[in-house]
Amino acid sequence: MSEEGLEQKYVKEAFDTNWVVPLGPNVNGFEDDLKAFVCERQAGAAVAQGVAGSASAGSVQAGDTAGSADASAVVSAGAAGQQAPLEREVVALSAGTAAVHLGLIACGVQAGDEVIVQSFTFCASSHPVTYLGAKPVFVDSEPDTWNMDPELLEEAIEDRIARTGRAPKAIVPVALYGMPYDCERIMAVADKYGIPVLEDAAEGFGSRYKGQVLGTFGRFGALSFNGNKMITTSGGGALICPDREAWQTVMMYATQYRESYPYYQNEHIGYNYRMSNICAGIGRGQMTVAPAHIAHHRHIAELYEAAFASVPGVTFHKGPDFAAEGSNYWLNTITLDPSLRVKGQDKAYAQIVTGAVGGAAGVIHAASSAHTDCEPNANVEAMRVGLDAAGIEARPVWKPMHKQPVYLDAPSYLRPCNLFGTPEASVSEAVFKVGMCLPSGPMVTDEDVAYIVETIKSLIEA
Ligand SMILES: *Cc1c(COP(=O)(O)O)cnc(C)c1O
Repeated sequence: MSEEGLEQKYVKEAFDTNWVVPLGPNVNGFEDDLKAFVCERQAGAAVAQGVAGSASAGSVQAGDTAGSADASAVVSAGAAGQQAPLEREVVALSAGTAAVHLGLIACGVQAGDEVIVQSFTFCASSHPVTYLGAKPVFVDSEPDTWNMDPELLEEAIEDRIARTGRAPKAIVPVALYGMPYDCERIMAVADKYGIPVLEDAAEGFGSRYKGQVLGTFGRFGALSFNGNKMITTSGGGALICPDREAWQTVMMYATQYRESYPYYQNEHIGYNYRMSNICAGIGRGQMTVAPAHIAHHRHIAELYEAAFASVPGVTFHKGPDFAAEGSNYWLNTITLDPSLRVKGQDKAYAQIVTGAVGGAAGVIHAASSAHTDCEPNANVEAMRVGLDAAGIEARPVWKPMHKQPVYLDAPSYLRPCNLFGTPEASVSEAVFKVGMCLPSGPMVTDEDVAYIVETIKSLIEA
C-alpha cells in the first residue's frame, strides 16, 4: 500500500471507530512506533554508552558507516547486540513547541530560573522558557557543527553560578538542520554540574550520534512533526522521556493535570497538549516511510556536496565526521564567501519584503523596514531572490536568538571569530550572514539538484 494509502487507512479507522479525540488507538500506536524507532541502535552504538562519563573516544572510525549512503542500514550483529537495549517512553503531543514546554516543566524549570539555550535555533527552542517566566541564557555555536559550543557552555554555567549563586535549571542543545551536536562533550559538561539536558531534536528526527538516536542522550528529547519537518502529522510533536515515572508526569501535564476523581479535581496547572487520534493516524503512516525519507535527505546531501566541491566561493556545510555520519540532513545548507559576486546584489534589500519568505502561513505583517541591524550579506539575499525567480525556494539560515529584538535583554555567551574574512562578535552571527538553506525534501529529485546547482552557478558573476 502506498504511503497516502496507509495514512488514509489509519485516519479512516479513527473515524470508523469513533476515536476523533486526543487519545485513542492511533495515538498509542504512533507512540509505540516512535518508541521502537528511537530505541533502536545502529553500528557504532557501542561507543555511545561512553556518553555522560567514561571517555571511549576513538573506537568508531568515520569509515564504519561513511561508505554506506543508506542512513537506515541497520547493523544488528556484534556491537549493537552486546549492549542492553535502550529504554525510553514517548508522549505524542500537539506540537514540537509543546514538547519543549513540557520538557522544561519536567526538568523543574520555574519562574525566575535560568535555562541555557543554543542561540542558533528557531524560536521554539527558547520561547517556552519565556512562557514559564524563566529566562533564556544563550550560548553560541562551534564553527564545525553550528551547534552549541561545549566549552562556552561550561563558561556560561560557571559565570551564571558566579553571578546569580544558582546553576541554570536545564540545558537545551539543538540539532540545527538535523546535524548532531557534540553529544559526548555536551553531556559531560551537563553531568559535571548535574544539570538536566532537554535535547531539541525537532529538526533532527532520526539523526544519530555514534549510532544512537538524538533525543535519547539527555533527560528529555523534543521532536516535531510539523508540516516541514522530516516526518509530519500535519502538526504535532513528541517528548522522549527517560522512564515511566517521567512519562506519567508529562502525560498529566499534557492533559490538564486531572486527578483521578469522578469529578474534575485540579491540583496543578496543566495544558491541552495531547496529539489527536487523527494526526497520530497520519504519523503511523509516516513512520513506515521515515527511514526512506532520511536516506533520501542524505542522498541529496551527497549530491550537493559533490556538486559544490568545484564551485569556488560556495561551500557545502557537511559538518565534522561524527556529525556527517549521523545527520539526517533535514535541510542542506551552504555558505557563500563574502567576496563572491552575485547578480543583482547591488539591488538586494532595495524592496521591503511582504509576507514570509517561502510563504509561511501566519506572517501577515509587512516588515517595517528593508533592513535590520543583523541580516544576511547582500550576495546571499541576491542569491535567494535569483533562485526564487527560477522557481527554487531557498532561504537564509535562522537568525540567532541573541540577535532577536525580543531577546536583546537575555544574557548571551559568544565566541568572537573571523570565519569568513570579517571579524564577527559570534560564530552564529558570522554563519547567519553567509548561510543559505537549499531544497532538501522528499520531492527533490536528482535532476532538481542539478538544476538548483546550475542556477546557483549561473547567478554568480564571472
Ligand atoms: C520546528 C521546531 C520546533 C517546534 O516544532 P513545532 O512542531 O513547529 O512546534 C522546535 N525547535 C526547533 C529547532 C524547530 O525547528
